[in-house]
Parts: sequence; C-alpha cells; structure tokens
Amino acid sequence: MLVETDDRSGFCFGVKNAVEAAEEALIAGKKVYSLGQIVHNDQEIERLHELGLITINYDQFRKLRDSTVLIRAHGEPPETYIIAEQNNITLIDATCPIVKRLQWKIGQTWKDLQAKGGSLVIYGKEGHAEVIGLMGQTGNKAILTDGKSNLEKIDFTREIHLFAQTTMNYSGYDSLSEKIRQRIILAGNNPDDLLHIHSTICGQVCNRQPALEKFAAGHDVIIFVSGSESSNGKMLYEVCKRINPYSYFISSPEELKREWFTGKKSAGICGATSTPQWLIEKVRQKIESLDF
Ligand code: SF4
Repeated sequence: MLVETDDRSGFCFGVKNAVEAAEEALIAGKKVYSLGQIVHNDQEIERLHELGLITINYDQFRKLRDSTVLIRAHGEPPETYIIAEQNNITLIDATCPIVKRLQWKIGQTWKDLQAKGGSLVIYGKEGHAEVIGLMGQTGNKAILTDGKSNLEKIDFTREIHLFAQTTMNYSGYDSLSEKIRQRIILAGNNPDDLLHIHSTICGQVCNRQPALEKFAAGHDVIIFVSGSESSNGKMLYEVCKRINPYSYFISSPEELKREWFTGKKSAGICGATSTPQWLIEKVRQKIESLDF
C-alpha cells in the first residue's frame, strides 16, 4: 500500500515559534510556566511537560510571583501584561506576529471609534483564547458574533469595522459581511460608506482547505491526526470526511484499526496546524508496518 503524508500538515509557524521558544528556555535550564495549553495536542503537551514545561490556568497565574511565563501563539489581553508586571513575572511572549498585528489594529480602530462613534465587530468563537486577547484590546466592549449572535447590538447607521479571529473560515466571514451589508441597506444607508471589512483570516489555516480537499480525494483512505480539542483539527477533518468518506480521526497511532486499510491501495496522512510532525511520522511508520 502506498502511504503518503500531506506536506502542508503540522504546526503553522505561529505554533512552531511558540514551541521552539519554550524548548529554548527549558533547555537553558529555566523553570517555565505556560499560560494555558501551548498547543491543542495532548501528545505534544506531554513531550513538553517531560522537558519541564508547567501549564497553568489564569487563577494560578494571578498567584504566581517572580517567575517565567510563556504567552502562547493565541496571544493575551492587556490585563495579562499588567499582572505580569505587578507580580515580577518575566514573559516569554510567543504571540504569533499575525495575531499581534491584529490585536494592534483592533486597539487602534477602537481608539478611533471612541471619537466618532460606530461599532467594532469581531467574528469569532466565544471563550477562544485568541478572542479573549482580541476583545481585551477594546476593554471587552467590541461586539463578538459567531455570525448569528449579537447582531442586534450593531448600530447599522454608523461606521462598522469588522474583524475575524484568524482561524475562522472565509465562507462564514463572507456571509456575515453580506448580512451586515443588507442590514445597512435596510437602515437606509450605503454599505460602501459605512462598512470596513478587515481581511484578518490567517492563510496558514484557510488556504489549506483547497489543498486538503485535493489530498483527501487522491487517496483511498485518509488518516487525520489531531488532538480532539483542536477546533482547527475538527474543521479540517470535516473537509476530509466530506471529500472522502473513508476518513478517520485519530489522536495517536494506537487508535489505528487494521480493517480501515483492507482492500485499500493508498493511504494519506494529514493533520491540524497543532499536530506535531513527529506524531504524523509515527502514524506513517505504524501504517507502513501494519503492526496494529
Ligand atoms: S494559525 Fe496563523 S495566526 Fe494562528 S498562530 Fe498559526 S500562523 Fe499565527
């Protein structure tokens, strides 16, 4: 059987950068705490914990003093930086540069809107770490929507700035933009004057979709490797499943089943942006040996 791995799978550069920053500090002998899970993948977390990384939550962070804390790729709201300063915490800021720029842009736009009025809308998932950081740039006063919720809070007669969490999908963002355009028209105004759509979805995730569709169509069976917590993983797995019904979601090589490969001539292995390359390689070796 031909076994092929998708060369676009594995960490995006933001996550890769955060993991490398953690490894570097741990290898230098520092005691490093990660505020929240550095990556949505249990196997990678376990590997980093073995190197000494300690994952903490916000309550533990608030009580911490004189320590080193890593900020993961998702970024943090301003409050986190204030607490760090008050508690003499050294930060390893591994916020992805794309997220950092988005935070800055939201902060600037929010400031501008204070003078002239209008709405700042964020298309994202409530409670997602990146969204908490983005909302924090506006003192949590931006309007957060999943495309349906909270739309009634938007003032359709004034300027509207629309931003998206970096890992949302293009089609959802397009349909939200269109909904807002229609509401502006209904309110008797010209959307071209009032609506500012900021292009903030990260290509590292979203441009993968068409390539993944091709990959899923090109193999008899698809093994998708991801942590069950990864929203990006769930979304990309759905893409595979839609194209190829013989797609299976696993988090570790132990979950592989021999019968999935019976009568199949080719297997494709792919994963989320939070799936480490070494794990994909382990899955490949296990399939090639068919030793399960
Ligand atoms: S998905 Fe994009 S924005 Fe998010 S961490 Fe990765 S590179 Fe950065």
